[in-house]
Amino acid sequence: MNHRPFEDWLLQDQPLTPEQKRELQSHLQVCTSCTAIAESNLALHSTQKAAPAAGFTERFQARLIQRRREQRWRQVMGSLVLVIGGVALLYWLAGPLVQEMMRSPAEWITAVVGYFLFILTSIQAWSEAGWVLLRVVPNFISPSGWIVLLSVVSGLTILWMFSIRRFTRTPQGV
Ligand SMILES: [Zn+2]
Repeated sequence: MNHRPFEDWLLQDQPLTPEQKRELQSHLQVCTSCTAIAESNLALHSTQKAAPAAGFTERFQARLIQRRREQRWRQVMGSLVLVIGGVALLYWLAGPLVQEMMRSPAEWITAVVGYFLFILTSIQAWSEAGWVLLRVVPNFISPSGWIVLLSVVSGLTILWMFSIRRFTRTPQGV
């Protein structure tokens, strides 16, 4: 059987004249191999129709950008709400204190300054005491005394660690 023009028409998938179409139809009725080509062409066309339409990628990207913009907006709004809520909560917690402060700023300032001075002086005192102890204590303790002290401290530390482990283990045993 001669498939020559029909096979070429089907494979090249070119537009046919009505006359050619009629010839092809009559050939397809008697030729299975050309029918197979025609069917595969048909399947190909349907998948091409199912494929993304023109401009799909652009639309998709536009939608993506839009969604990203919405997401960013939501984030901004979320952080704004968080900040406002935090300020409101802070005001609710510290409001009475702030009002108190505003009523008598001088008192409040002297109180704060006094408190800071108290902290500073106590830190100074403690550090001085610590320095004195560090300088004085070694003179009282001999080298062998240091060894005894160290072993006692390390023994206590080990004991403490063991007791902690036992305490933490007890709930699991029960
Ligand atoms: Zn044929």
